[in-house]
Amino acid sequence: MTAPSMPTFVPETITTEVQPIVSEAEMQAAVRILLLGMGEDPDREGLRDTPKRMVKALKFLTSGYQQSLDELLNGAIFPEDLDEMVLVRDIDLFSSCEHHIWPIIGKAHVAYIPNGKVIGLSKIARICEMYARRLQVQERLTAQIADALQGLLKPQGVAVVVEASHMCMVMRGVQKPGSWTSTSAMRGVFSSDARTRQEFFNLVSHSPAVR
Ligand SMILES: [Zn+2]
Repeated sequence: MTAPSMPTFVPETITTEVQPIVSEAEMQAAVRILLLGMGEDPDREGLRDTPKRMVKALKFLTSGYQQSLDELLNGAIFPEDLDEMVLVRDIDLFSSCEHHIWPIIGKAHVAYIPNGKVIGLSKIARICEMYARRLQVQERLTAQIADALQGLLKPQGVAVVVEASHMCMVMRGVQKPGSWTSTSAMRGVFSSDARTRQEFFNLVSHSPAVR
């Protein structure tokens, strides 16, 4: 079974490191201005190190910009004659929405059907993490994970579901605590074959025997 009509993966996107054009000191100065804009005194004791801490936190939460797939994979792709679905579910996701730079908290379920090559299971979680640690919209995050695996492994297909709660929805705006957004990206046989897709959704919705 070969996967029809896959989107073409552009090899350049494997290396996706982005170098910042401003210094951390400039970022800290910007946070100080934000504090002033909130009516705060950035020089009071509790806030004195806040610009430094916030920049450090932002750098961590967007550290995915400094990572590339090649580096992250470090050769963990192996030849293997397997024809069955590989599913890693409940991968914790911590991302930031690009509209508010507020947290997106959720889980990813990632499956693929090999086509001569498999990837180290922990690397699937690392790929999710790399894309999550950037400013995101959930739909793009979901698609990037799917396209990365599709491009790296050329498998028969890839399926990704992301379920997440957006703090910008929960804490402001519509203020709907407990609201979840679910997005999916299907590539190859998961897109073309309804039974394969259904098998994936059955596995994802089934509660695992081991936690
Ligand atoms: Zn938002």
